[in-house]
Amino acid sequence: MEVLLARENGFCFGVKKAVELTEAAAETGRSVYNLGQVVHNPKISERLGALGVKVIKDPAEAKEGIVVIRAHGVPPEMRAKIEAQGLECIDATCSLVLRAQRFTKQLADEGYKVIILGTPEHPEVVGLLGFAPAATVVETKEEWEKLPRMKKAGVVSQSTQPPWAFKDLVSHVSEISQETKVFNTVCPVTVKRQHAASELAEQVNTIIVVGGKNSANTRELVNLAKMQGRNAYHIENADELQSEWVRGEARVGLIGGCSTPMDTLLEVKERAEKLAA
Ligand code: SF4
Repeated sequence: MEVLLARENGFCFGVKKAVELTEAAAETGRSVYNLGQVVHNPKISERLGALGVKVIKDPAEAKEGIVVIRAHGVPPEMRAKIEAQGLECIDATCSLVLRAQRFTKQLADEGYKVIILGTPEHPEVVGLLGFAPAATVVETKEEWEKLPRMKKAGVVSQSTQPPWAFKDLVSHVSEISQETKVFNTVCPVTVKRQHAASELAEQVNTIIVVGGKNSANTRELVNLAKMQGRNAYHIENADELQSEWVRGEARVGLIGGCSTPMDTLLEVKERAEKLAA
């Protein structure tokens, strides 16, 4: 059996930066804390944990040392809280998320009713809400069809939402609002990865998607493969791979989310080949 790797794999630049900044902080020998999982991948959390990095939910849990803000960003008041406690703050927010935060604030400051496409409890969306507390978060067509008519509507997106959903939302909001301002904040890296998943789906019946179960961009790859009628399995590591998924297949596809390390993907590839033999 052949395992086909998608043409886009490995860390995106935002995840790479967040991991490297946390590792560099750990090398200083001081106490280092991640405010929430720095990226949505259990293997990375484990690796950073081995360097002594602790994951906390609130800056109050850190007595002294360095707090690294996750790639998904935080609301401005959270950052202020870190600084007010006299802790050193390293901001690992991805530059694309910072851009989305800026646009969200701009829309709110200009008097637009802000509509965010995203998952309400996702940390990136929680961060965006900090810049426009009166914003409405919608995730599904059913939800955005319930939006009231508006005078001025401003639309942004959580970076990992599918571009087609953003397009549909913008088209709907334009119909129910007198004036619409749109900032397309869908991450181009995740869009590229989604295209790679679609291409892979054209060549195989089964796709293994590797990434954190709480990783939005990974889950989107699974949805995409299923929408193309393929068998899609979401695993976090090689141990979760089941022989019946690969046995009898001439080839299977393999793709990872933006926070899945290449070595995890290669472990899955090796185990898939062994299970199919
Ligand atoms: S997926 Fe996109 S927005 Fe998220 S960390 Fe990576 S590059 Fe940044």
